[in-house]
Amino acid sequence: MTTLTKTEGAPPPTGSNAFLSVRDLRVQFSTEEGIVKAVDGLSFDLERGKTLGIVGESGSGKSVTNLSILGLHSPQNTTITGEILVDGQDVTDVSRKEMESLRGNKMAMIFQDALTALSPYYTVGRQIAEPFVKHTGASKKEARARAIEMLGKVGIPDPKSRVDDYPHQFSGGMRQRAMIAMSLVCNPELLIADEPTTALDVTVQAQILDLLKDLQQEFGSAIVLITHDLGVVANVADDLLVMYAGRAVERGSVREVLKSPQHPYTWGLLSSMPSLGSDVNEPLRPIPGTPPSLLNPPTGCPFHPRCEFAELVENSSRCVHERPVLAEGRASACHLTAQQKQQIFIETIQPRLG
Ligand code: ADP
Ligand code: MG
Repeated sequence: MTTLTKTEGAPPPTGSNAFLSVRDLRVQFSTEEGIVKAVDGLSFDLERGKTLGIVGESGSGKSVTNLSILGLHSPQNTTITGEILVDGQDVTDVSRKEMESLRGNKMAMIFQDALTALSPYYTVGRQIAEPFVKHTGASKKEARARAIEMLGKVGIPDPKSRVDDYPHQFSGGMRQRAMIAMSLVCNPELLIADEPTTALDVTVQAQILDLLKDLQQEFGSAIVLITHDLGVVANVADDLLVMYAGRAVERGSVREVLKSPQHPYTWGLLSSMPSLGSDVNEPLRPIPGTPPSLLNPPTGCPFHPRCEFAELVENSSRCVHERPVLAEGRASACHLTAQQKQQIFIETIQPRLG
C-alpha cells in the first residue's frame, strides 16, 4: 500500500517519497455563529500512480480538504494551518498566481457536476483546448488537435465532429467525460476527483471509474478520489482514508479496510450501504443519530455520541474526554483494544453485512 505514515499532530516524517503529503491540516471558517472546524488535524500521503479514496458522510470535511489542496478557499474567512506538500512544495504558502499555474499544470480537478464546470457558451473543444494553450503555449491548431485526441481518449465517439458541440449537446455521462478530458489535457501529476460519479447512473458510473483507472495507467497520475460511497472506492482506490467530523478515523489499503474494518464509524458506513456486489434491495442499517456540528464538535472521540460500542471501552469516559489518536500505517482512531475491534467485527458486524 501507499505509505500513510504520520500520527495526528506529530512532526512531519523525513524521507517520504509521496507526491502529495498532507500534514496536520486544519481548516477553520469564521462564521456569524462561530468557528467551524471543518478539517481538524488531517494527515495523509499519496504516491504517484496511486489512488487514495477519501470517504465519509456528507459534511465530514472531504470537499474542504480538496479545495485546500487546490488553493480554492476564499482567504477572507478561512484559516488554514499545517502543510500541503505537492511534489515537495508547500501549496499553503504560494502566491495566487503560482497556485493558478499549479492548477491545470501539476494538478487538476474533476467535480461532481460537469454542468457547472463547463461553460454553456463555448464549445466543448474550446474548453478542453484553453488550458492546454495557457499552460503549454501551443498554437490554436495544435490545441484543437489535442482536444480531439483527448475526447477520443475519454471515449467520446466521433471526436472530430463532437469537438465543436456545446455542452448541452452532450449527455450527462459525456459531459463528465469531457470534463475529465479537460482536467487531463495537461497531463497533471495529481488529479482530485470530488464525487466524480455521484450525479451519474450506475452503468455510466462504472464506465467513468474504469476510464479514470485506464487514464491513470497511461498518465501515471496520483488520484485523490473523494466519495461518500464505499462501493466507488472499493473498485478503484489503492488506499482508503475514512473521515468523520474533519478527522481521519481509519486508514489502510482498501483491501485491509474492507476486509477487516476497525473503527465503529467504518462499521456503520459498511452496514448502511448495500453490500458490495450484492443485491441493492437488501435492507440497510443507517447509522443512528446525525453527524455532529463542526461549530461545536463533541469532546474526546467525535463519534462517541453515535457509537454503540463506546460502553465496551474500559473506562468508557475516555471516549468522552480523550481524543483517540490515529497511529501510523494501518490504523484506526478508537479507544477499543485491537482485540475488541476484531472480536466485535467478527461477532457483531460481519453477520449484519450478510
Ligand atoms: P463533505 O465531506 O460533504 O464534502 P465539506 O468539506 O463540504 O463536507 O464540509 C465540511 C464542513 O465545513 C460542513 O459542516 C460545511 O458546512 C462546512 N463548510 C464548508 N465550507 C464552508 C465555508 N466556506 N464557510 C463555513 N462553513 C463551511
Ligand atoms: Mg463534498
